[in-house]
Amino acid sequence: MSSENRNPNLRLEAHPSYSVPCTRTDLVAALGKRRAKAVQQLYPAPMTRADLILERAIDEGHLMLLDGAWGPKRLPVDVAANFGLRLTDQVVSNGATRGIITQQEAEDVYVTIGRPYKSWAHICTPDTLRGHHQRRVFVLSEHPELFDLDTLWEIGYSEGDLSLGKGPDAFDIRTTAEIAARQIAAPFTDEQVEALRHWQQYDEPVRCKQDVCAATDPPALDVSKEGLICPTCGTTRSWAWRVMTEVA
Ligand SMILES: [Zn+2]
Repeated sequence: MSSENRNPNLRLEAHPSYSVPCTRTDLVAALGKRRAKAVQQLYPAPMTRADLILERAIDEGHLMLLDGAWGPKRLPVDVAANFGLRLTDQVVSNGATRGIITQQEAEDVYVTIGRPYKSWAHICTPDTLRGHHQRRVFVLSEHPELFDLDTLWEIGYSEGDLSLGKGPDAFDIRTTAEIAARQIAAPFTDEQVEALRHWQQYDEPVRCKQDVCAATDPPALDVSKEGLICPTCGTTRSWAWRVMTEVA
C-alpha cells in the first residue's frame, strides 16, 4: 500500500519512548532476569522503551486504552487483543470500501468478520497484543496527563496505511488524547443537556451530516441525554465538543 494515503497529521511514534532504546538493564529491572530473557527473544529488532511499556502492561494484565467517544478504558490483555483484531479487520474492510484492496483480498485476511468467535478466541493473547503494538494498531499517547494518567494507549494505524479513524467527523482523523479531552460523551448530565440546547438554539448549531439530510437543508440536531439526535432521520451522535457546554 502506498504512503500517499497516509495522513500527514498522524504522528504514530511521537511519544519519546519510541526513540529511546530499552537496555538489558532496564528490562531486567522491570521484568526480572528470567522474564527479561524470554521477552527479548520475542523482538526481532532492538527493543525500545515503548516496547518495555507494553511488556509491563502485559505483565500487569491490562492496558489503559483511549476509546474515542468514551475516554480511557482499562482493558484486560485478552479484551485488548480481541479489540485490536476487530479494529484490524475494520481497517481492512474500510480499505475494501474505499477501493484500495478488493473485496476478495479483504475477505481472505479477515480474522473476525464473518467468522465465529470460537475460531479466533484462542489468539486473544499477549502475543497478539505484542503484534498489534508492532504494527501500531495501538500506540502510546503523548498526552496521558490530559486524563491524569501516566500511560495511555491510543488507536493508531494498522495494516498498511489505512486510517482507523472513526471520529470525530472525518475518516482520516485519528482520535488522540488531545481530541478526546475536548469531547464529552453521552449520556449527558442535565447541565450538559441544558448547555447543549442553549448552544443549538443560539450558537452555530450542529447539523445532521447523513447524506439523506445533508443534501438539502440539514436539520439542527435535537439534544437529549442519549446524544444529539437528528429530528428527520433519527441518527444519534453520542458525543459533543466540550466547548459547547462551557459557554457562559
Ligand atoms: Zn438526519
